[in-house]
Amino acid sequence: MAVPFRKVSKTRRNMRRTHFKLQAPGMVSCDNCGEMKIAHRVCKSCGHYKGREIVK
Ligand SMILES: [Zn+2]
Repeated sequence: MAVPFRKVSKTRRNMRRTHFKLQAPGMVSCDNCGEMKIAHRVCKSCGHYKGREIVK
């Protein structure tokens, strides 16, 4: 339900936003290069997956 924004205190609004994340869920760092990648996908920057599978 919508609540008028003046009825929500800054504290309450900010407490709600503590759950806002910078990155989408399912983002993990690559085991090989450390770059952020999507979980269960081949790394975009180095082409590794599951330790060694190499794409290109
Ligand atoms: Zn990588």
